[in-house]
Amino acid sequence: MTLLDRFFGNNKAKEALVFYQRDGRFPHGILLEGQEGTGRKTFARMIAAAALCEGENAPCGQCRHCKKIWKDIHPDVQWIAPEPGKKSFKKEQVERLRADAWIKPNEAPRKVYILCETQYMTAWAQNALLKLLEEPPAGVMFILTCDNRFHLLETVRSRVITLTMEAPGEEAAVRALLDQMPELDAEKAHAAAGRSGGNVGLAKRLLADGQYALILEKAAGLCEKMERADRFGILQVLSGFENDREGLLCCLAQVRQLLAQNTTDAFLKKNGRQYRILPLQAGKVLDIIEQGMEYARQNMGMPLLTTWLGAGIGSAFEE
Ligand SMILES: [Zn+2]
Repeated sequence: MTLLDRFFGNNKAKEALVFYQRDGRFPHGILLEGQEGTGRKTFARMIAAAALCEGENAPCGQCRHCKKIWKDIHPDVQWIAPEPGKKSFKKEQVERLRADAWIKPNEAPRKVYILCETQYMTAWAQNALLKLLEEPPAGVMFILTCDNRFHLLETVRSRVITLTMEAPGEEAAVRALLDQMPELDAEKAHAAAGRSGGNVGLAKRLLADGQYALILEKAAGLCEKMERADRFGILQVLSGFENDREGLLCCLAQVRQLLAQNTTDAFLKKNGRQYRILPLQAGKVLDIIEQGMEYARQNMGMPLLTTWLGAGIGSAFEE
């Protein structure tokens, strides 16, 4: 049993890690690309642990290195990310890293730098790291995370091995949730896994207080604006998600569910009313939502996406 057995889904990435581990040779640079909630940070920890582990079945989770890495207190595993609330790396962060990489590790045979959300690195910052990525000091490894590899310079992409992280799917998400939150009951785990489309991080967010209820409220609000053909209101609700891709996806999934069930007796019984939205209009909205969710998965910019959705949904209610 290694830590990897408790990381559900993403078999390709896990296979790659097992391969590096057996071979004893880790790439200098690994890029973990994937949407929020797909486990990039957890997997970055796995890689660092696998690289530094002293146990027999690495990453064992038991040795001093694994334990410290798991608590994010290992002196030779450094996390570098944009400051909270900011969406860019500071010049000093990059300069400090460039100097620090040449200092010998404290207690492990290697040093690992984990750079989070590197899609927010300026071209300057990326260029400043090129040389290190290409020929790092002995024993230095870089793990980068980003939403989409194409948001990085080609020169960076060509110097790292990219592993794509994906939502593990509903069944695996349920297992992951129950493993990580032993007090959670199975029914809630299934509901959250289903609503999140099998995305563990998002499912956890849904289970956290408040968040989920708020999104449900917005989805219902959106349906009310639709029945009043309030096109400005529709746009307004959607633009509230401009900085929240996962929230938008969740809201759209909920609207889809509401519209699909709107004409059923069960819906009437549960909600005391049905939305006055014609099947033809609902059909148009559902098509737009499908397309919008696809665009979201392809990482279309959020301001553009919310505007596109608002205009599209609004047009279904034109006189
Ligand atoms: Zn270990």
